[in-house]
Amino acid sequence: MSAPQEAPQPAAADDGPKITRTDCDRCGTRVSGIDGRYACGVCGWVNHWSEGHRPLPPAEADVDYPGPGAAPRRRR
Ligand SMILES: [Zn+2]
Repeated sequence: MSAPQEAPQPAAADDGPKITRTDCDRCGTRVSGIDGRYACGVCGWVNHWSEGHRPLPPAEADVDYPGPGAAPRRRR
């Protein structure tokens, strides 16, 4: 790879999710995540949700949100 260049980035990208990287806590594989949340595709490790860089969106933000009072969906 060549030397990193200072590419002009739109300032609007500042408030969106960011891709972050870390080493898997369990197997050491380099994993990418969003806003500090990771899931390793090799060993299945995930980091704790509280390690994310921003709060999780509320249930209401989910496109599948069934509305208040709806029973939680069962996992298959
Ligand atoms: Zn792993």
